[in-house]
Amino acid sequence: MVFEWVVEKCANAKPFSYGQIAFKSKILYTSVNVSTQKGICKLCLKHKNLQDSHFIGRAVYKRLSEPSLKNPHPILITGQQTTQSSLQVRDYVFCSDCEGVFNHGGEAWLYPKIATPSGFELLSIFDIHRPVVRDLDFSVYDGGQIPEIECEKLLHFGAGTFYKAAAHTWHIGGAISTITLGPYKEALRKFVRGEANFPNHMVLMVEIAAKPNPFLGVIPPIRMVQKDFCRYVFYISGILYRLAVGKAIPADTHRISFSSKEWKPIFLRDDVSTDVTHIIKSLSVGSKKSKKLEEFLKTKSPVRP
Ligand SMILES: [Zn+2]
Repeated sequence: MVFEWVVEKCANAKPFSYGQIAFKSKILYTSVNVSTQKGICKLCLKHKNLQDSHFIGRAVYKRLSEPSLKNPHPILITGQQTTQSSLQVRDYVFCSDCEGVFNHGGEAWLYPKIATPSGFELLSIFDIHRPVVRDLDFSVYDGGQIPEIECEKLLHFGAGTFYKAAAHTWHIGGAISTITLGPYKEALRKFVRGEANFPNHMVLMVEIAAKPNPFLGVIPPIRMVQKDFCRYVFYISGILYRLAVGKAIPADTHRISFSSKEWKPIFLRDDVSTDVTHIIKSLSVGSKKSKKLEEFLKTKSPVRP
């Protein structure tokens, strides 16, 4: 089965590059940075005032905050070390118009629905709907048949985040986060801008952690093991996006793409957290880990104070 093949590959894959952050804590923002600098915006490609752009919106930090926590800093995981830091992933990359494209395209819709210490709104939407396929450890829903799911925004958010990673090298502490999409980057840029349909030789899959207590955090887009085509994953608190790129993507895989025109498959899987654990283990190989991270890797429970 195509679905099982995708899962197996992800579970065994080693990241090509990394930049992984597990947000587990209270982060307070007392001011908004409105500084700009001139440059070429990496979405519209025009010379404009660039905003101090966040790779992952500040709303995510806030959603994952927990007022009871003593330590206000996120865990920052790189291949070298695991530290607690207040670092945010940001740089002067996009103009304010293009920030708006990301925001209105999907971020503003999705951010309030990610898994947090107090619940997982996106998952709860499926409670009152029937899957089109139900198996032992996963179900498939057609998002196009669920009024509460704004499929265009769910798609745009995933595509937009992969594009952000392809358009710029984001520095996270001493590490970097970026992916290479080669000639496909321009096709994705046009889609994110609303100037073209979703690229032909790309597949974007959406999986939601169906079990309670998914990992509360973010894994920026990373490249997985490549064989016949390129594959990348991106995780944001309960939601795993998979991106496949290349002309060799089998037709079966295209049929289960959330970017399909025929339907909008959304997978609710019990094993999403297992996959995330594998990714984190891969990212943190050789890294000195904190007790909290060890706890998550052992129990697959959310990281708690
Ligand atoms: Zn722009």
